[in-house]
Parts: sequence; structure tokens; C-alpha cells
Amino acid sequence: MHIDFTDKNQAPQDNSLEKINLLNFDLAALTNWCVSIDEKSFRAKQLFKWIHQYRIADFNLMTDLAVSFRNKLQTLAKIEPPKIASFHKSADGTVKWLIDVNDGNLVETVFIPETNRGTLCISSQAGCAVNCKFCSTGKQGFNRNLSTAEIIGQLWMAENLLHEHEEYQRLEKSKRIITNVVMMGMGEPLLNYNNVLPALKIMLDDYAYGLSRRRVTLSTSGIIPFMEKLHECPVSLAVSLHAPNNELRNILVPINKKYPLEQLLNTCRQYLEHAPRDFITFEYCMLQNCNDSDEHAYQLIELVKNISCKFNLIPFNPFPQSGLLASKPERISKFAHILSKAGIVTTVRKTRGDDIDAACGQLAGDIKDKTNIAIRLQKV
Ligand code: SAH
Ligand code: SF4
Repeated sequence: MHIDFTDKNQAPQDNSLEKINLLNFDLAALTNWCVSIDEKSFRAKQLFKWIHQYRIADFNLMTDLAVSFRNKLQTLAKIEPPKIASFHKSADGTVKWLIDVNDGNLVETVFIPETNRGTLCISSQAGCAVNCKFCSTGKQGFNRNLSTAEIIGQLWMAENLLHEHEEYQRLEKSKRIITNVVMMGMGEPLLNYNNVLPALKIMLDDYAYGLSRRRVTLSTSGIIPFMEKLHECPVSLAVSLHAPNNELRNILVPINKKYPLEQLLNTCRQYLEHAPRDFITFEYCMLQNCNDSDEHAYQLIELVKNISCKFNLIPFNPFPQSGLLASKPERISKFAHILSKAGIVTTVRKTRGDDIDAACGQLAGDIKDKTNIAIRLQKV
């Protein structure tokens, strides 16, 4: 877009223009946009800092920007985070926001405080087309992709709102409460790559949130073509494995029929070639008498040999339609022990926010049964 302002000091008066939500732009896109409205490219950095470092939505408060620029911004642009439908705080300090992304779709953002860090779990889609057997999000079907503004807006909004909480009120606004981000909320982030990529870039950008790439984790069920592209913004990678062989994984994670295990693990190896000191986190949801035997653990050891990796065993959060049961804690410990003995660092995920349904796979929101799952998958 190129708009020519004949009188540079005069803001355009046409209010009928649809205002652009600047939360959709990473720094490169914001720079292009600033140039397109006849502003110097360095202005974009100043504006980007106001938007993401100070999280100011009112252009009038961006005091080091020229008044003429602020006027243009008022007329052409807006900073609009997603709308919050409700807010819940768990006894363990976990906070969950239900976000209204229109058309009756709700997604969730969850904040998990720990002693030395605060992790925000972000959603990337309303619903999910992958339809894993143990996941309530999958049961909704796919509703729609979230925009970049709706994805990064979850971080923008959560950081701002946490600052208003009693326990954080004494912190300066520029001091971060959220130190880590995991793309582990609703949706398959790599099936919304074009909108997720700018959001990741904003998280890492020193003029925005400045998070190190090790503190931003993208979790995927294994969408190989986009795993291959992710070195464009090489964040930490978590891969939802859940089964040690194709036969079982085809059932639990149906996308495996399209991207089977051997190819998936090769792609993991290639990803690590770009960042040799990194590791892949394999997530494994523990399902009683399904994927949790000693034999399954031995198969896993064989499968991931030569890959620098960690295992994260996730206690299954049951929900009525799944027909699956959670492994007993003793079984999870034995499974973890077998992996650890083979030299694989293995952790068991603590379940947080149970009392507010903020635990993994409980991010169902308003369950809708969409029948277009198969059609969507064919398009992948
Ligand atoms: N779509 C991505 C990211 C969102 S799911 C992915 O599948 O990786 C985030 C994690 O939660 C995944 O590892 C997923 O397998 C796990 N999960 C989903 N439903 C669950 C449930 N009911 N109990 C425990 N973990 C679950
Ligand atoms: Fe989608 Fe991930 Fe749930 Fe599978 S586990 S249905 S990929 S959100």
C-alpha cells in the first residue's frame, strides 16, 4: 500500500478506511508499512517498542513520535488485542483467559507461574484439524486460523493484565512477568505457519519481547513441510510423539499416516543440524494399556537413538468423549525410569490448573462438532 500525503503535517480525514491492526506486523512488515505512509523506516522501531515493550495502545501516549505521525496512526491504524470472554485463577496460581475470537469461537491462553519463571501457553487456531484421539481440542474440529494479531495479542494482553494483579503491581511495566512462551494451547501451530511465523519473530525481537529462542517453544504433531521451514525462526521444538511405532501412532495422531515416524525423525535430525547444541523435546501422553508398556519404552529408545532429545511424559487429562484412561503414576515412573536408564533425560509434566480446566488437552472451550476435518487434512 502506498498513500501519498500531499501535506505531510495533515492527517488524512477519511475515517471510512478499515484501520490496520498493527499487532499483525513483525518489525520488517511494520517498517514497510511506515515507509508506505511516507515515514522514515527508523520510526518503525520506535513504534514497535511502544507497541510491544511498553504495550501502549493509545497513539497519543507515544510521546517521542512526531505529532504528524501520531495523527496518521490515529487515522489509519489501531492496536487491538483479542477480546477476553472470561478469566479464571486456579488455587495453584495458574491463570486462564478464555478469548473470544468471534463467530462463537473461544480459545484459551494459560499463564503458569513457577519460582524462577512465568510461562505463557498460547493458542494458534480455534479448534484443530489433526484430531488426535486423546485431545479435546481435536474433538471440536477445525474452526479457523488465528491471525498474527490474535496470536501475539495473547502475549501482549497477558503481560499487561498480569501487571494489574496484586502480586505483580509493584513491578515496573517494562519488567517482564512472562519469561517463557510455549505454543501448546489450542491448535496445530504449523498448520497456521504464515500467521505463527511473524508472531514468533515478534517474541524474539529485541525491540519487542526479546525472548531468547530457547525460551520460546513450538509444539507440533509433526507437520514435516513446515518443520523444514521453521529454521527461518529457529525456536525450540517440541514434537508430540505419543507412540513408538506407526501402527499405534496412525491411530493416536492421525496425521502420522501422511507424515510417518521415520520421516518425522529425519526431519528432527535435520532441524538440529541448524542448531547443533539444541535438543528436541518429545512429548508423550501416557495412556493406560495403550502406549505405556515397558516394550513401548524400549521401542522408543531404539526409535530416537542418534537424536539429541529429552522426553516429557504427560499425564493424560481424561475427558468424557475420549474413551481413554490415564496411566497410573507407578506406570509413568517405571516408563520414565527405563528411558532415563538408557541415558535419555526424562521429565514427567506436573499437571497445573486442574481446578480451572487449564491442563493440557482440556482447552476445549465451547466444543463444536465440525465435520470438515477430513477435507482440511487432505489440503495439508
Ligand atoms: N498441536 C500441537 C500443540 C498443542 S497440543 C501438538 O499437538 O503438539 C499441546 C500438547 O498437549 C501436545 O503434546 C498434546 O499431545 C498434549 N495433549 C493434548 N491433549 C491432551 C490430554 N487430554 N492430556 C494430556 N496431554 C494432552
Ligand atoms: Fe491438534 Fe495438538 Fe490436539 Fe492433536 S494434540 S488434536 S495436533 S491440538
